Amino acid sequence: MEVDLDLDQGQEHFTSRTRITFSCTDPGASTFVDVKPVELRSLVLNGAPVDVSGLEDGRLQLDGLAADNVLEAEAVMAYSRDGQGLHRAVDPADGEHYVYGHLFLDAGPRVFVCFDQPDLKAPYAVSVTAPEAWTVLGNGAATKVAPGRWELAETKPLATYFVTVCAGPYASVRSEHDGIPLGIHARASLKEALEREAPQMLEVTRASFDYYHRLFGIRYPFGEYHQVFVPEFNAGAMENPGCVTFRDVYVFRGQATRDEVLTRSNTIAHEMAHMWFGDLVTMRWWDDLWLNESFAEYMSHRTVAAATEFGTEAWVDSTMARKAWGYAAERSPSTHPVAGSEALDAMSALQDFDGISYAKGAATLRQLIAHIGDDAFIAGVSAYLREHSYGNGTLADFMGFMEKASGTDLADWTRAWLMTAGVDVLAVDKATGTVERTVPEAFPADRPHTLDVAGFSGGAEVFRVPVTTAGGSTVVPELAAAPAADLVVPNAGDLTWATVALDDATIAAVPEQLGTVPDPQARAVLWVSLLDGVCLGRVDPRTMVRTVASAWPQEDNSSILNRTAASLLGRVIPTFLPSEEQDAAEQVVARAAAAVLADAVPGSTRALVAARTVARTSTDEALLRAWAAGEDRPQGLEDDSDFGWIVVRNLASHGLAGRDLIEATRERDDTLQGRLSALMAGASMPGAEAKEWAWAELTTNRSRSNYELNALAQGFWVSGGPEVLRPYAARYFADVPAMSGWVGDDALARVATLAYPARVVDEDTAARSRAALQRDDLTAAVRRSVVDGQSELEEALRSRAAFG
Ligand SMILES: [Zn+2]
Repeated sequence: MEVDLDLDQGQEHFTSRTRITFSCTDPGASTFVDVKPVELRSLVLNGAPVDVSGLEDGRLQLDGLAADNVLEAEAVMAYSRDGQGLHRAVDPADGEHYVYGHLFLDAGPRVFVCFDQPDLKAPYAVSVTAPEAWTVLGNGAATKVAPGRWELAETKPLATYFVTVCAGPYASVRSEHDGIPLGIHARASLKEALEREAPQMLEVTRASFDYYHRLFGIRYPFGEYHQVFVPEFNAGAMENPGCVTFRDVYVFRGQATRDEVLTRSNTIAHEMAHMWFGDLVTMRWWDDLWLNESFAEYMSHRTVAAATEFGTEAWVDSTMARKAWGYAAERSPSTHPVAGSEALDAMSALQDFDGISYAKGAATLRQLIAHIGDDAFIAGVSAYLREHSYGNGTLADFMGFMEKASGTDLADWTRAWLMTAGVDVLAVDKATGTVERTVPEAFPADRPHTLDVAGFSGGAEVFRVPVTTAGGSTVVPELAAAPAADLVVPNAGDLTWATVALDDATIAAVPEQLGTVPDPQARAVLWVSLLDGVCLGRVDPRTMVRTVASAWPQEDNSSILNRTAASLLGRVIPTFLPSEEQDAAEQVVARAAAAVLADAVPGSTRALVAARTVARTSTDEALLRAWAAGEDRPQGLEDDSDFGWIVVRNLASHGLAGRDLIEATRERDDTLQGRLSALMAGASMPGAEAKEWAWAELTTNRSRSNYELNALAQGFWVSGGPEVLRPYAARYFADVPAMSGWVGDDALARVATLAYPARVVDEDTAARSRAALQRDDLTAAVRRSVVDGQSELEEALRSRAAFG
């Protein structure tokens, strides 16, 4: 593949020239190419022009193929604003423009003519014309051959969806490790932050390279390794070989908590795992995307735990941030098996980029390792990567290597863990030493679990017993013989994938004792099982509020602090509790945060999480006004714009700040992030007029970027009385699906989830959701958002019915 892009054609369009040489095993046959241009200027097959008027739905038929073919095309393409294709953003801080390619899934044809499917790999030779002041980066090493003209080294064979070009006046930090040239890049206005943050990122990159080289026994194959932090990026990051793109909020411009740095490290290690698993060997088709994501998800946590300063905190973070997400996916009717879900087209596969493919898939691989041993697992992975290098693989290929390496028949295991949806419930009867496994009725399967059960009393661990379940009930004599404990925690080390049903005595003891448990991993399992219990209607949501009051002041793990605050303030309090109890419950969180802030080391991560939580929840108007003005802020946050925005949003949502304060704050912080924060604060003002403005901006302003839509949707529902909000619960089901006319599905999936009327918890919203799902005009992404939103809404309704 030869691709030549001209990015110096103004702000709307670019030109794209492609030359594809390909063979055909059946000369005379027909095929089609994929292209979604503004204008397809010419297409020439083997020297003969092709009539381009037949282009329909991004496909153009090619007839009369020869054994060896050359296809040449020239097209005018449009830059995108939704993060798909070649996205173009303007940085308000300095007016500079930035372009990045995100060809993931099906956006390749928005950039060049191609045969867009993951098993048609080719080496790419890319050249780019760009404004003279720009830097150009891509999969192959970039060389400036003339002012404004760049050539990228020809790549190893790549799938179309891995090709990227990043161009703009990017600031760069360059380095090298073990013969691999390294680069870290971000917008010029982030230069200072980039230079401050780069050493930590490079350290993780180096450690991960060493770890993967040792583990797989295969050198990193794609030449240079660039990590580009790009504006308005939909996902966390994308594993383009040699040129990974990340969302640029990862270049922290203000203070960051330890778990935020951990999350970034984890993302770096995740994308690096993909260089081998995903890029060197790619799934044959999207129905095996779990092969990519489950593996990278597992491998990144393992790498961060084994090779960085974070150690086992990586697994605690996985429990709080990732597995909680996966269990939520498992509770929704949209749940699916880890592997083997049909993906009729690429867009339906997009729906599988969820908590099942990532979090459950990774947990499943940990169970596989417990089942066959780590040596066999790594030997199998290494052999699979070697055998399929620069090609593709399937579930059957992968499990074949696992069986060979372990000498174990894994057919039953694969069927139960990978091919069947659903999560088992594990409960422990300590008195009899029984571990009871309850199988979901809808998805019966005989999943063996390897786990441990631990007991805690009065701040000490009193027992820990390893268990491997067989069948429904497993009697473990060591468990019955172990000393009594106030808290009995099944799956305390979080090795397996299961809903942990705590016994009644443990639930009763949790609010007072969770904070005293010395093992952060067990505390995380307790928190996630409480949340699960609340969502399943087994645990009163007030138990979680009481637990925060007592456990937070003792907590020192920032993943636990951050994630419990997010789930309580974002979901449990505003949806599970009746409206008349919500303010008081929020003040319980506010007081717990104030207690932590008072006692934490100034400037520490604990103090930072607490300060942000106080800023978000406090009703002390004088304090908030002072902080908004930059006065008397906690240490380290004096100039932290993002902290200031949390305060302004709180004031705005309580009707204590109007457009004036928001606008004045934005003038002091006229950056991409500042403008987004201003939009979110504006949308979170409670009045009818503010809501009307925000809704119109969200659903009808076609010039809004993906990030601006997210900010509007995030702010919208956090305030406003029922009479103001209720009409929008109805409008959601007409206005948001209609946005698919101009917003791509990848971006719209997030918008539709954020804009779902989750806080209008009543039968009407549920009925409207059900009615919407009967329609046939919802795109796959919007449908999925409605299914999941409705499922969460019904969890809240069930809980309210049970506990009042
Ligand atoms: Zn990934």
